[in-house]
Amino acid sequence: MSRIWNFSAGPAVLPQEVLARAGDEMLDWHGSGMSVMEMSHRGPQFMGIAAETEKDLRELLSIPASYKVLFLPGGATLQFAAVPLNLLRGRRKADFVVTGEWSKKALGEAKAFCDTHVAASSEDRGFTYAPARENWRIRPDAAYVHYCSNETIGGVEFHWVPETADIPLVADASSHILSGPLDVTKFGLVYAGAQKNIGPAGLTIVIVREDLLGQAQKETPSVLDYKLQADAGSMLNTPATYGIYMAGLVFKWLKQLGGLPAMKQRNMAKAKLVYDVIDASSFYASPVAQEDRSLMNIPFRLADDKLDAAFLKGAEERGMIQLKGHRLLGGIRASIYNAMPIEGVRALADYMRDFEKRQG
Ligand SMILES: *Cc1c(COP(=O)(O)O)cnc(C)c1O
Repeated sequence: MSRIWNFSAGPAVLPQEVLARAGDEMLDWHGSGMSVMEMSHRGPQFMGIAAETEKDLRELLSIPASYKVLFLPGGATLQFAAVPLNLLRGRRKADFVVTGEWSKKALGEAKAFCDTHVAASSEDRGFTYAPARENWRIRPDAAYVHYCSNETIGGVEFHWVPETADIPLVADASSHILSGPLDVTKFGLVYAGAQKNIGPAGLTIVIVREDLLGQAQKETPSVLDYKLQADAGSMLNTPATYGIYMAGLVFKWLKQLGGLPAMKQRNMAKAKLVYDVIDASSFYASPVAQEDRSLMNIPFRLADDKLDAAFLKGAEERGMIQLKGHRLLGGIRASIYNAMPIEGVRALADYMRDFEKRQG
């Protein structure tokens, strides 16, 4: 068996230990004679898996009892609509902080449901930084404020949680959830698609303060109604059962490695390997403001973009794939989620130094 260093932004690398365990359990989960994929979602075995998955997530993030945890279908993109449908609560306005492609998409989708307003934007410098809180202009009657806490494409990460007083704060944390500790109590709602840092695509996790539930717009499809889903234990209809099981294995893997404080240390060490190469060289450049650089997604440019193809080809020859930058930005992007081992990142950093030497 050979595993490759996969720097994909998503669907992304999963922990090898988790994949191996899922493989072992594929045909016969714990003596049940079935794969998890074949289980009734209402049977005791799967109900047990789902309950333990939620319990482990609550433990990792210290989620208080006053928050509901939902395991929903549809990807983060469906939440761009589900959030306004549920959180407007009879109000008309919602405010957005725009720091890149994903927050822009969330804003665009919400326009169908409410009066939107851009409270802050980093477009003036090409979406390369996180606007300071004192420059946000939130309307006092906004039902909530939405931002993307890690822009997967631009590589801009908020390393701080904005204070929004009584106005619920909503975060799209798809590409850095569980990369380090997060104080959930500062948020009204946090959501994340699974395929970056949690598990297979098709599952989305929503963590929402209970008092915000129960006032969805009346047109809201029942599967998207947080209150109905919360009351049904996320099983209003058939949930993404295998995704929930895989997420559960990833949560156990995280706990075994020391939980989120330990992951944060690991992730800082990994990201430093790449940023150090970039900063020590005039051949590589990162467009992102130093203090807002993502630990998960590292976009960078070569001195001459005509060398991109050679860089990517050489990387592939060394077993490193999916380093091509997003089509909107070009250049190179390395996504180094929780499951990317430090050896993979070291291989990339070594290759970057070698490539520069050969060009210079
Ligand atoms: C990947 C991503 C999305 C979209 O996820 P889908 O599952 O494809 O809907 C949304 N927001 C962020 C920050 C992402 O990284």
